[in-house]
Amino acid sequence: KKNKERADIPRVKMNELDPEYRSHTRLEEVNLGLTKEQAMQEAQRCLDCPNPTCMQGCPVNINIPTFIKNIERGEFLEAAKTLKETSALPAVCGRVCPQETQCESKCVRGVKGEPVAIGRLERFVADWYRENVNAMPEKVPSNGIKVAVVGSGPSGLTCASELAKKGYEVSIFEALHTAGGVLVYGIPEFRLPKAIVANEVEKLKAQGVTVMTDMVIGKVLSIDELFEELGFKAVFVGSGAGLPMFMHIPGEALKGVCSANEYLTRINLMKAYKEEYDTPILHSKAAAIVGGGNVAMDAARCAKRMGAEKVYIVYRRGEAEMPARLEEQHHAKEEGIEFMTLTNPVEILGGEDGRVNGMKCIKMELGEPDASGRRRPIPVEGSEFVLDVDTVIMSLGTSPNPLIRSTTPGLETNKKGGIIVDENEMSTRENVFAGGDAVTGAATVILAMGAGKKAAEAIDRKLQNK
Ligand code: FAD
Ligand code: SF4
Repeated sequence: KKNKERADIPRVKMNELDPEYRSHTRLEEVNLGLTKEQAMQEAQRCLDCPNPTCMQGCPVNINIPTFIKNIERGEFLEAAKTLKETSALPAVCGRVCPQETQCESKCVRGVKGEPVAIGRLERFVADWYRENVNAMPEKVPSNGIKVAVVGSGPSGLTCASELAKKGYEVSIFEALHTAGGVLVYGIPEFRLPKAIVANEVEKLKAQGVTVMTDMVIGKVLSIDELFEELGFKAVFVGSGAGLPMFMHIPGEALKGVCSANEYLTRINLMKAYKEEYDTPILHSKAAAIVGGGNVAMDAARCAKRMGAEKVYIVYRRGEAEMPARLEEQHHAKEEGIEFMTLTNPVEILGGEDGRVNGMKCIKMELGEPDASGRRRPIPVEGSEFVLDVDTVIMSLGTSPNPLIRSTTPGLETNKKGGIIVDENEMSTRENVFAGGDAVTGAATVILAMGAGKKAAEAIDRKLQNK
């Protein structure tokens, strides 16, 4: 096809569930994926650039034009192979990566129009592979060297898979009762079905990786014990950043206030959405979610699905500054979530029963940029008002849990609690490597995967004296 003809094809739209229907169903995935025909047509929009700038925007450098050209030809298996060369979890990334600020933001088609829908094509290929081939990987003969991985989020899963491919005997120690990290306890089913993550864990097991759940490292076993008593030669710490922050305003101890992480864990992992489960959960009529990231959007959309009539996103900056992916903001609005931007809580009000009975807020305006480069929000004097809510869910960000640091001599962390590592993801403790949110603080799935892969290569070099 000539470039002119390719340029005339409009960007494919994602097939989605109707907003009214989906905001009352709890489980069903909102995005339905592309059909074969849609994917092949979208692939024709790619110009197969000699200098594919899209690849520069991908943190793991997926060979984007090659996998897209394979889709155009209908060679889906080849497309899947190309993805697998660099991305361990394409079905996950195709669903949750912020493509609009990564690969798609660098696609030349975006200069004059809309970029190629790279994320949607990635998801299409990964789903096609899972539904039509789903081959379990072969177990590589063991080299007899044991490596432990702490945490089963995207960093830990990727590190374990890469090490298993090299013949290491890998054991994952996961604190929760299900493997997958934020992919299962944070991101809701309607955005990332648990079965997709479970399928990845099954593939790891087929590679010979042992996955042990309910194993809190720092309590059940220490890192010292992993080395000295259990014979592990290296440890990768991918324990994430699960410690929620609060605002420290009056009323945060009232019944009806909780962190987004806790709220989402109760819904996702402890199945509070199922009638037959007794999991205690806040049943709200009107909920305020404080924050503007992906976690806030997920909590808001869950609150709506759990039956809240009114759900507000309360965010102190403007909509342009919101860190959440655009798609999540768009979906949240479609589902009836009200955005109260340039608004900051100052006090949570309580009734005589000790429960939340409103939230006092103040209006904000944007001043000069602060250290983060974003314009600093400043309170507007005399603009206080009370928002009528019975639930407040704090989604202000998270930091790494101090448990591993406090039980591992020689492991140094920075001011924010992140494990200090060198360019090879090696920590200050001999043969302990770390990556993902445990190092960077809350970030993204793809960066966590990239760190896990890099650490696996560094562990291999270190243990084999390469
Ligand atoms: P995690 O996924 O946090 O996994 C860490 C694992 O370690 C957990 O399972 C934890 O239980 C376990 N663990 C912790 N301490 C111990 C211990 N002492 N012993 C044993 N195990 C331990 N990113 C995106 O790219 N796109 C999105 O749309 C997106 N949405 C998000 C929505 C929510 C609600 C949240 C919370 C995050 C979201 N993120 C998103 C961020 C992304 O999920 C994280 O950056 C990523 O999961 C980090 O991976 P990780 O492997 O470092 O850690
Ligand atoms: Fe295709 Fe866009 Fe990448 Fe060019 S920049 S190769 S058009 S996806």
